[in-house]
Amino acid sequence: TSPVQEFEYKAEMKQLLDLIVHSLYTHPEIYLRELISNASDALSKVRFNALTDQEMLDKEVDLAIRITIDPKEMTFVIEDSGVGMTEEELIANLGTVAKSGTLGFMQSLKEQQKQLDGNLIGQFGVGFYSVFMVTEEVTVETRSSHPGSQGFRWRSGGQGTYTIEKIDKAERGTKISFKFKEESKEFAEEYRVEQIVKKYSNFVDFPIYLGEKQLNSITALWQRSKNELKDEEVNEFYKFIANDYQDPLDYLPVSVEGMVTFKALLFLPKEAPPEMLYRQGELENHGPQLYVKKVLIQNECRDLLPEYLRFIAGVVDTEDLSLNVSREVVQSSPVMAKIRQILTGKILGWFESLAKEQPEKFKTFYKAFGPIIKIGLNTDFTNREKLIELLRFESTKTVDGEYVTLKEYSERMGADQKEIYYHSGTSKGQLLAHPNLEYFQEMGIEVLLLSDPVDVFVIPSIHEYDKKPLKSIEKADIDFSKKNKETPEPIAENLLSPVLQLFRETLGEGVEDVIESHRLVNSPVTLVSGKDGLDSQMEKMMKMMRS
Ligand code: ADP
Ligand code: MG
Repeated sequence: TSPVQEFEYKAEMKQLLDLIVHSLYTHPEIYLRELISNASDALSKVRFNALTDQEMLDKEVDLAIRITIDPKEMTFVIEDSGVGMTEEELIANLGTVAKSGTLGFMQSLKEQQKQLDGNLIGQFGVGFYSVFMVTEEVTVETRSSHPGSQGFRWRSGGQGTYTIEKIDKAERGTKISFKFKEESKEFAEEYRVEQIVKKYSNFVDFPIYLGEKQLNSITALWQRSKNELKDEEVNEFYKFIANDYQDPLDYLPVSVEGMVTFKALLFLPKEAPPEMLYRQGELENHGPQLYVKKVLIQNECRDLLPEYLRFIAGVVDTEDLSLNVSREVVQSSPVMAKIRQILTGKILGWFESLAKEQPEKFKTFYKAFGPIIKIGLNTDFTNREKLIELLRFESTKTVDGEYVTLKEYSERMGADQKEIYYHSGTSKGQLLAHPNLEYFQEMGIEVLLLSDPVDVFVIPSIHEYDKKPLKSIEKADIDFSKKNKETPEPIAENLLSPVLQLFRETLGEGVEDVIESHRLVNSPVTLVSGKDGLDSQMEKMMKMMRS
């Protein structure tokens, strides 16, 4: 027999394992979901490679996942006929943290004393290690689908080291086996395995057998027409593909025939995914799944949607790409460009009808994703007009929790008002207390109150709506000549100029100029920005970004 080699986990990995096993988990049952999803990934890869790779090992073998349990012995085995792993892949995949930032994120959760919800585990690429929640030692036997490959056995107690040895393994694929800890022995019961598979893995694209019995129902929901879809089933499907524990906010079946032919089932999550907040809006690894004739080609396909819509989850299935497309071909394919263009239109239409027909839903959506949608204004010029209509604002005339659109603002502004006014800052409360609002409040002129940090980069670029210029109330060139009350006697020039001069000398370089103000009602002084100057909130943001 060949020697057993011992390896140490990378330092990061040790800490991560410790966090997963001892501090953070809430649902040990998700270990099964994670093992099944890895098996399913491995099978998808085989199915995909088989399209081009004539030399592949065991080409004719069934694509399936098989589970065996023994309640008396408290043992568990899961086997797949997927791509398997070479020795290098074993070390790289099961000995290191998969995604950067994962450890930091988990530690911060622990510091905040938050429990890690089961659904996060998969999202952060540490799925395999969830198995240590239910067992003390795991054995992985695997053989790569490359012709002439060798079998290997990997074994670890999740404590800092693992061993690898060569073995004889007849067929390609991976077999994972272990004995449950005493407190987890329920998972060796048939009813529990069945329950968990139905709950989390019902839509896995390959048959999952427990002994002879198939546990999952394989259905391509996106191939069905709208009236054949049941909410409950669709919601389960969403939770499965999006790794979410909540139902979606809404879903949209799409069926397109014409220049391109495709079907899609798209979902609007209730909340922004954690990494979107964590990585400040970066949606690198997001997007719907791309299928070609029911075969999964790419998870998180970036090219199906513009970045500002990549929080939409779901499935897109087309017949117009060949099955063996590579990622590069997908990227540059005119078919993809067409699908993307059509989907974008459908999605914006979907938002629009939500706003009209289900305003409460729309509000929930806008709270979660408004800041991302706004990015589209500066990147998707084709759909700019539609995006502008989706914008919602707080204003001096909205009550808390209510919003106004530019259309509503523009329709209700006074006949002699020529401009749309906004005021940007950090919160509605702070904005309302500002002296620069006094004139507008006094005159009953509505002012939009912008408190989303993204606003200052986006709203000024709209320039005008319905031929009415958008203008920050800080700007010096606003016409304040109209007054409600009797105008007080103008201050005589010979009194005014020494005062202004005194201010100029005292403030020196700190300000550009000191002028007589017509905008104040109760306050004696205020700061404004020059005609060509930046809005002060914008200036603050720029300074923050530079530092
Ligand atoms: P993720 O699935 O998010 O990449 P995991 O911790 O679940 O993270 O798995 C780590 C890696 O181990 C996988 O990406 C895959 O390369 C490899 N792996 C795990 N299980 C299997 C399997 N059954 N067959 C082949 N490779 C596997
Ligand atoms: Mg996984």
